[in-house]
Amino acid sequence: MARKLARIVRVDAIRPIEGADAIEAAVVGGWVVVVKKGDFTPGALAVYFEIDSFLPEGNASWQFLVDKQPRVFEGRRGHVLRTLKLRGQVSQGLLLGLGALDGTDLDRASLAPGDEVTLALGVQKFEPPVPAELGGVARGAFPSGVPRTDQERIQNLAEALAEWQALGDSGALHWEVTEKLEGTSITFALLEGALHVCSRNLDLVERPESTPWRLARALDLEAKLLALEPGRSLAIQGELVGHGIQGNPYALQAQRFFVFDVWDLDRASYLGPDARRDLCARLGIEHVPVLDPRATLGRESTMEALLARADGESALRKGQPREGVVWKALERVASWKAVSNRYLLKHGG
Ligand code: ATP
Ligand code: MN
Repeated sequence: MARKLARIVRVDAIRPIEGADAIEAAVVGGWVVVVKKGDFTPGALAVYFEIDSFLPEGNASWQFLVDKQPRVFEGRRGHVLRTLKLRGQVSQGLLLGLGALDGTDLDRASLAPGDEVTLALGVQKFEPPVPAELGGVARGAFPSGVPRTDQERIQNLAEALAEWQALGDSGALHWEVTEKLEGTSITFALLEGALHVCSRNLDLVERPESTPWRLARALDLEAKLLALEPGRSLAIQGELVGHGIQGNPYALQAQRFFVFDVWDLDRASYLGPDARRDLCARLGIEHVPVLDPRATLGRESTMEALLARADGESALRKGQPREGVVWKALERVASWKAVSNRYLLKHGG
C-alpha cells in the first residue's frame, strides 16, 4: 500500500490563524496546511502533497521551496516537505493550485478528488538510506502469505473515523493502543518448519553481518518456536530499535526487538492481543509498550484530539517524546497510526 504522496483534493475548510494577517490554514481531510491568505476557498480543487514528498527541481509552482531549502535525493536537486510550525500553527505538506499540473499530460477537466498525481509530477518519497547491516542479500521476496507492516495515517482516514466514532459510542468497537517505536520493521516467520528473517521488503539470506539474523539467533527463535508452537506457521512482526538505527532516539546501548503483531499463516489472521502478548512472554521476547489495552474511540475522539493523544513521553526513555501511537481495533480488522507532531517537529519529519 504505497502512499499517495500527491493527489487531487477538495479543500474542506479555511481557518484563520490568530495573529497572522498574510496566512491562513487550509484543512484537507485530517491535514492542516498553512497557505497564503485568499489563495484557496472551501470546496476548491487543489493538489495536496503530504510530508515526506521529495519535489524535484523544475516545476515553477514549487521552485521557491527548492530555492529556499534545497536537498539532494538520489542525485537530483529538489525539496523535501517536512512538518513546520508557522505562527504557532502546525503545517503539514503543501497545497497548490491546479496550475502545478501545467506541463504534465493530465487533463485538468477530468480530474477528481482522490486522483493520484505523484508519478505525473515526478514526486518521490524521501527516504533516508538504510544501513547495509539492516538490509542484506535477498533470499527471496517478502513471504507472500504474510502482510506487510505498514500503517495508514489517521489524517487520511477522516471518513472511516466518523464510522468508528459511531461504533465506539454504541460500545461495539474498542481498540488496543500501543506506542509506535521508531526503528526498522523486522518479520521472523516460521514457514514449513524453517525460520525466515525478513526486513520490511525482503526475505534475507543468513549472514554473520546481518543484524536481524544475529538477533534471531541470539533470541533462539527457531528452536523456541518449533518447541512451543509445533506444526504452526507464524510470522512474528516487530520493530528493531537502538544503536545505529534511525538516530537511536531512545539512546539505547544495544539493539532491542519489540513485537507488535503475530500473523497466523494457517488461519490467515492476526493473533488477538492476549494471545500475542502470551506468546511473547513464552518466547521471552519484548512487546511494544501498551498504552491502553481497551480504549474507546467515540465522538469526543476528534481528529485533533487523536493527534494530540499521539504526543507524549516514550516508555523507553524518560524525557524523550514518543514517535506516535498505533491503534488496533479489537472487534474487527482495522488499524492506523498517529505520528506525534511534537516528535516530527523535533526530529524533522
Ligand atoms: P509512511 O508509510 O508513513 O511513509 P513508513 O513507511 O516509514 O512511513 P512508519 O511511519 O514507519 O511507516 O509506520 C509504520 C511502521 O511502524 C510499521 O511498518 C512498523 O514497522 C512500525 N511500528 C512501530 N511501532 C509499531 C507499533 N506499536 N505497532 C505497529 N507498527 C509499529
Ligand atoms: Mn518508518
